[in-house]
Amino acid sequence: MTVLVPESLRALQEQVRTLHAEAAPWLPAGLGSRLTWGPAVSQASAVLSCRNLRGVLAHNPGDFTVTVAAGTPLLEVQEALAHHGQWLSLDAPWGEAPGSIGGLVARGLSGGYRQRYLGVRDQLLGVQLLRSDGVLARAGGKVVKNVAGYDLMRLISGSWGSLGLITELTLRTQPIPPQRRCLLIQGELPLLQQLCRWLRDSSLSPERLDLGNARWAAEAGLSPQPLLLVALASIDAATLAEQITCIRGQAQQMEQALGTEPGLTLEELQANELEPLLAAQRGCNTQADWLLRLVVPPAQCATLLASGELQGAAVVLAAGSGCGDGWAQTGALPRHRVEALRRRCHALGGHLSVLRQPQPATGAAAVPAWLDAPSRPLIEAVKRQFDPLQQLARGRLPGVAG
Ligand SMILES: Cc1cc2nc3c(=O)[nH]c(=O)nc-3n(C[C@H](O)[C@H](O)[C@H](O)COP(=O)(O)OP(=O)(O)OC[C@H]3O[C@@H](n4cnc5c(N)ncnc54)[C@H](O)[C@@H]3O)c2cc1C
Repeated sequence: MTVLVPESLRALQEQVRTLHAEAAPWLPAGLGSRLTWGPAVSQASAVLSCRNLRGVLAHNPGDFTVTVAAGTPLLEVQEALAHHGQWLSLDAPWGEAPGSIGGLVARGLSGGYRQRYLGVRDQLLGVQLLRSDGVLARAGGKVVKNVAGYDLMRLISGSWGSLGLITELTLRTQPIPPQRRCLLIQGELPLLQQLCRWLRDSSLSPERLDLGNARWAAEAGLSPQPLLLVALASIDAATLAEQITCIRGQAQQMEQALGTEPGLTLEELQANELEPLLAAQRGCNTQADWLLRLVVPPAQCATLLASGELQGAAVVLAAGSGCGDGWAQTGALPRHRVEALRRRCHALGGHLSVLRQPQPATGAAAVPAWLDAPSRPLIEAVKRQFDPLQQLARGRLPGVAG
């Protein structure tokens, strides 16, 4: 594929107009770190990168908003915000390859911090994008209290480059919590699920509530048993200490009530040990042949994690939302089990997307990245409005199979 990297927004706009005049297919790109995930796009497509649209354009610490050019690496935005004691409440990118803020929004995926801060789409206040005909469009605004109008931000989050090229974003920032503590709780899945439910219904509002299977724990260098990671944050150390005591007490009560043997083991991590632990896991999944996105209702997390189809895969779910990831090498997870796992997710009321998969055997087709969503006709109608010549990400439209 030809990769085009225009120097400026104006040059990018010119390029889009030229491609439109030729009705040529093209793929919007950020830093190009994860372009191959999901269904293959038409080989004839040019890749149009916005990596030269870079930098924090405006930060208003008092209003907790930041406006950034879409090609800016997430880590660069975090560094700039940290000078003011703020951050974008998103997970760091997986593995070594940096990702752009535009790519992150285009994918619409988020990690465990979603538990407390919601998904990336909920943090978007405004967007500027280049339409397929080269017209620059804006939606939303630069303040938290936004004007009425179409909520283009939610449409564009998770659009995988199929509706336009994002050029600029305004997002909500958060203060960096001064105090953080983290508990690693291991034991049988039903007990962990019960503790999760109690935590979700409590007033503790953890930052993360990650529920994973034994393999996920083992990859993090822990005992190979199901693991619940509870990350807490507060402005006050005494409040955090109280919360930890409260969780320990609840765990004990549950063990006694159920008479479970062995019960739960609780270990506390130092605040500075959490990020390396998460980074080690992100490192494992970047090297795996299979990378799956799994979504089930929160009440079904433990059932999914216990299912036989997952044998050989490391899986972690954000317990409050039921969204998570699974990964495995080819030998450990045969294709037929991925298909069975998809059926299992559906039966539990969720779904499965294949982000990355091993090369299929000669003559065999790839596993579809996603199946048709019930709203397929609506998705296709929106696509026709944004991209009547079907130029963008041709062959890759979320919610539309094949
Ligand atoms: C479950 C999950 C959670 C994740 N959570 C995080 C996280 O918390 N933090 C994080 O940094 N990463 C996260 N990622 C990775 C993230 O989703 C993106 O893949 C990554 O940020 C892509 O960066 P990139 O600039 O290299 O994009 P590319 O690899 O260039 O593109 C990725 C996709 O986005 C589209 N795209 C890219 N830029 C634009 C644009 N400007 N306009 C329109 N479309 C565009 C492309 O067409 C392509 O479909 C997560 C991934 C998963 C699976």
